[in-house]
Amino acid sequence: MIQSYKRKFKTEKNYDTIVIGSGIGGLTTAAFLSREGKSVLVLERHYTAGGFTHIFKRNGYEWDVGIHYIGEVQRPNSAIRRMFDYISDGKLQWADMGRVYDRIIIGKKEYELVKGVENFKAQLIIYFPEEKKAIDEYVDLVFDVVKSMGSYYSSKALPPFLSRLLGGRMRKKYLKYAGRTTREVLESITQNETLIKVLTGQYGDYGLPPKLSSFAMHATVVRHYFNGGSFPVGGSSEIVKTIDPVIEKGSGTILINAEVDEILIQKNKAIGVQMKDGRKFHAKHVVSSTGIFNTYEKLIPPAVLKKHKMQKQLKKVNPSVAHACLYIGLKGSPEALQLPKNNLWIYPEKGDHDTIVANYLKDPKAPFPVVYISFPAAKDPSWSYRYPDRSTIDIITLLSFDLVKKWEGTQWMKRGKDYDQLKAEMSDRLLEVLFQQLPHLRGKIDHSELSTPLTTQNFVNYKEGEIYGIDHTPERFKQKFLEPRTPIKNFYLTGQDIVSAGVGGAMFSGVVTASAMQGKNLVKKIYKNKK
Ligand SMILES: Cc1cc2nc3c(=O)[nH]c(=O)nc-3n(C[C@H](O)[C@H](O)[C@H](O)COP(=O)(O)OP(=O)(O)OC[C@H]3O[C@@H](n4cnc5c(N)ncnc54)[C@H](O)[C@@H]3O)c2cc1C
Repeated sequence: MIQSYKRKFKTEKNYDTIVIGSGIGGLTTAAFLSREGKSVLVLERHYTAGGFTHIFKRNGYEWDVGIHYIGEVQRPNSAIRRMFDYISDGKLQWADMGRVYDRIIIGKKEYELVKGVENFKAQLIIYFPEEKKAIDEYVDLVFDVVKSMGSYYSSKALPPFLSRLLGGRMRKKYLKYAGRTTREVLESITQNETLIKVLTGQYGDYGLPPKLSSFAMHATVVRHYFNGGSFPVGGSSEIVKTIDPVIEKGSGTILINAEVDEILIQKNKAIGVQMKDGRKFHAKHVVSSTGIFNTYEKLIPPAVLKKHKMQKQLKKVNPSVAHACLYIGLKGSPEALQLPKNNLWIYPEKGDHDTIVANYLKDPKAPFPVVYISFPAAKDPSWSYRYPDRSTIDIITLLSFDLVKKWEGTQWMKRGKDYDQLKAEMSDRLLEVLFQQLPHLRGKIDHSELSTPLTTQNFVNYKEGEIYGIDHTPERFKQKFLEPRTPIKNFYLTGQDIVSAGVGGAMFSGVVTASAMQGKNLVKKIYKNKK
């Protein structure tokens, strides 16, 4: 059972490993180590576990914060499904979203992204018959990138000697694609601006428009959803609920309300952590799953940081974009309200993604560069048992941290009139976008509340409320320090920053980190696991 640090809790005297942060990266590391017989203490600062997989409840509704769809889990033999089965002991169930997973809406035109790669291609060729060759070439390239991904990420788990010997070769092919922007690669295939806009219509899944994002990141996300999208049955809180018993079986535990203040380091060796209240926990190994900025800027003592010139490394990466999300509750079941399972990606008709984003960042009153609408209640088959005659919707757009920075340090829910006014204006604009798409919902909203980058900062501890850790630029993928091993003995990194954003990426980071710590390739275990 997940325990609260604020209450009376039971812990072992000495853990084998302390994992800081209970997002999917930290949980995966902890579960893999637990299944190797290690006792793991997971420390989470929030009042609930799961990082971006956590949920919150208000006024009789429940919302998922950082999960709208996951790819590949509907295929029982896919690596991601096997990993989930391994860390949840086969307990986590998935619901397929059906034929269409994303609907890209540009002005008045709609483009469906359809499950199954041949269907995906055929559907795009209906929209762009003259671009058949480009579409085929594009899909081939996406597969090519993803094929080279495994060896790139596996190289991160190699011990230093082997990494020097084999690492370059293992990384080379992936870096060829990762070093180019999405726009550069797409322009080499097609000159059709609308096709480019549609093919990059999921850029919100990794946060950067085509001229700034690495093609490798783009390809990873696109490939991830080729076989459709799925949603956890019972909502995303099922993730931590099903992984927790696996950690407990290894004599470990998850503590919430447990904020780590500093990693204890003696003679360049991690020996434990100091909590915000001064209390100490000791372990043979410490893993940080809190993101590279939190880890380097807040948790590692400044003298150690300086000694290893870690600040210099941080200058090579940037925090990703921040977002606003309008969480909506409606009376009526998803069926009665005719809510779709697929997500909507809504874009202005004119201009390319990069120009539209740049204009919006200069002028927040400019049209939203992207509005993403997700209908979680419709995706979860258990929803109507849990919340009869109710539904939820999430509406997301980009929101720069600079716009809310002046309220940093104020208290959640009590940030003042001007802040509330900004939120009210933003909420009205987002609701109008929803009503344009689903006009029958006008007048049916029962509850709504807007999160801003300050909300993300408050609850998940990202310094600028960033949505995806560090930016997925070509430069990011060249950074060797984004790997599990650090210059500090017995201290490791995990989480989305060392692989890539997305639940799949962060989960894979957990396996890479546990493999590096155990000195063996634990991915093999998921293929031997009996279902
Ligand atoms: C709005 C939104 C929608 C998304 N939608 C999807 C989606 O549909 N599909 C998908 O695959 N991905 C999605 N993602 C991305 C995905 O949720 C993340 O990439 C992934 O969950 C990150 O996992 P993580 O373990 O790296 O980090 P996190 O989940 O961020 O976990 C880090 C944890 O560390 C804790 N922490 C920080 N500092 C401390 C400290 N000092 N002491 C103790 N604990 C600390 C934090 O509280 C947090 O719980 C979405 C993200 C967002 C924000």
